[in-house]
Amino acid sequence: MSEASGRERRAANPFAGGGLDRATHLRGDLRWISDRLSDPSSRIVPVSRSRSLVARAAGEGGTEADGMAYAPVLLPPAVLASDLEPPGEWIFLGLEGGADGGRAVFAADLPGEEDVPGEAGDAREASPSDSPLDGAGEFLDLRGVGAMLGQREGSLLAYARAIVTWSRRHRFCGTCGCPTRPEQGGHVRRCGDETCGAEHFPRTDPAIIVLVTDGDRCLLGRKDIWPEGVYSTLAGFVEPGESLSEAVVREVREESGIEVGSVRYRSSQPWPFPASLMLGFRAERVGGELSVAREELVDARWFERADLARRREIGLRLPGRVSISRRLIEDWFTG
Ligand SMILES: [Zn+2]
Repeated sequence: MSEASGRERRAANPFAGGGLDRATHLRGDLRWISDRLSDPSSRIVPVSRSRSLVARAAGEGGTEADGMAYAPVLLPPAVLASDLEPPGEWIFLGLEGGADGGRAVFAADLPGEEDVPGEAGDAREASPSDSPLDGAGEFLDLRGVGAMLGQREGSLLAYARAIVTWSRRHRFCGTCGCPTRPEQGGHVRRCGDETCGAEHFPRTDPAIIVLVTDGDRCLLGRKDIWPEGVYSTLAGFVEPGESLSEAVVREVREESGIEVGSVRYRSSQPWPFPASLMLGFRAERVGGELSVAREELVDARWFERADLARRREIGLRLPGRVSISRRLIEDWFTG
């Protein structure tokens, strides 16, 4: 009880709440950006094949529960500037800490790492043997290590992963097909064709995620790709021309046959896999009978509060602490 209550008081979900000063007013200051790119006090967040560079945090022995087993590895510009990526493509993330306004933090995509043999199989082999990154840490999937990072650190890596992925996928104009170039510290990509000149902005895809309740029970579903016993909240992307509450009602109806009302927003979470923003809701059943959409879920069930209390006995597993679904469930369970 005390553990869950403490978590409920926490302001932000994992990947949010980092507190980085994004300093958006400096993005267009080419001179300032250029100076920071060669400033040895600046730091670069490297991303390779959508993986983040992390190292075991001092002290070791961390677990998912205590949340501090890994830390991001940030590099000074000189480590990367020579070989791996032209600084012109580095993306300005913001200013971090410091009484003097803080040091500039950039994200860098490392395309040179794309073809390293063995990387797909084992993140520990992500760096080539002659890489200046050798020994700096390991490139790991943020989905796996997210729960083992501090709030600030997880948020920074999520931000870097999301914007690097967007930038990499928008090297060509979606309007005319010509190459694009970065502007605004990398937060805009402008079409290089003069007659087109279209601006492309970082994309965020809203998705709703909802805990449906009916008195003292809640509705959880299960996908076949999940580990055995895991049940979670229902979720889906918001469609064009749809409000958030409409998306909640539609998704729940489609996946479970249940009609809901009293849709209430709870909290949100950046989910950079690759570009989602999870918008967490609670909703109450107002009608309908459970009818699982098999193309979406392999199962969906009502779980009593008592079932969650004895979930180990009945083989029920909840989603990991990195996800907002876990928080939606725990907030209801402990509330
Ligand atoms: Zn264009």
